[in-house]
Amino acid sequence: MKRTCVMVFPLLFLFLSSCGEKRDDEENLPERFLDLTLEYSADRVPVYYSAGRKEASLKYYRMLMDGIDYFNKTYDTDSKPTLVILNRTDWESVSRLPYHVPFAYTKAPFTVIMPAEAGIEKLDYNHELIVFHELGHIIAAELDIRFTEDWINELVASYLAFDYLYQAGYGEMIARLEAEWQEYLEKNIIYEKDFSADDILNMEYGETYELTIALKLLNIYRIHEKDFIYNLAERAQKKDTDVFMNSDFLTEIYPDFFSWDFLYSM
Ligand SMILES: [Zn+2]
Repeated sequence: MKRTCVMVFPLLFLFLSSCGEKRDDEENLPERFLDLTLEYSADRVPVYYSAGRKEASLKYYRMLMDGIDYFNKTYDTDSKPTLVILNRTDWESVSRLPYHVPFAYTKAPFTVIMPAEAGIEKLDYNHELIVFHELGHIIAAELDIRFTEDWINELVASYLAFDYLYQAGYGEMIARLEAEWQEYLEKNIIYEKDFSADDILNMEYGETYELTIALKLLNIYRIHEKDFIYNLAERAQKKDTDVFMNSDFLTEIYPDFFSWDFLYSM
């Protein structure tokens, strides 16, 4: 499997961003931010940005606000995340993630961190998907939907992004992506045999599994739409606050969750 496809598919780095270093990075983020000289503009949500990046911050701000309004209304949240737009120098002083891998910091204050430069490889490819995926992490945290398995957290964030994009008129974009993912999987048929959650964690074929999961998400979305999130949120509220959910919760609600049968009928 060539790693070059990492450059092609936008969702991959969303999933990869959950691996390894991210946790450590996030733990120390607030302290590290103090060392940055960021400009600030207060509007409906706080926006911090590196010197000279006001324009980029406004672009993200407008994009995010539409999503925040939608999510707060749909899922009864009251999210007011902080938005942080960093140039490469500032980025590298707070995160070891590559500059093109945005991330969400889901401890209060909830924060979406995005790179400031325009024309960044990958990010331009599906800007909206990435922005709303990061916001999805924050909405999921507000709903207390937290899984022990990081890839499921990534999945939930992407699901929320799809939900917003569908209702915001990006259906065609998603259909185009779906066709590309499907075409890719048809050419790289490693899903001839069924695979499990463990395979996904193993990530040896990360990009293929990721695209498979993305297709599965869209499949679930067509059947369950917002109920998927409502059900998870309801379940999350019932559990002890300190207990993270695991994949058993998913299979309780959706017994066929780990079935990939739909792929064979593609
Ligand atoms: Zn993510």
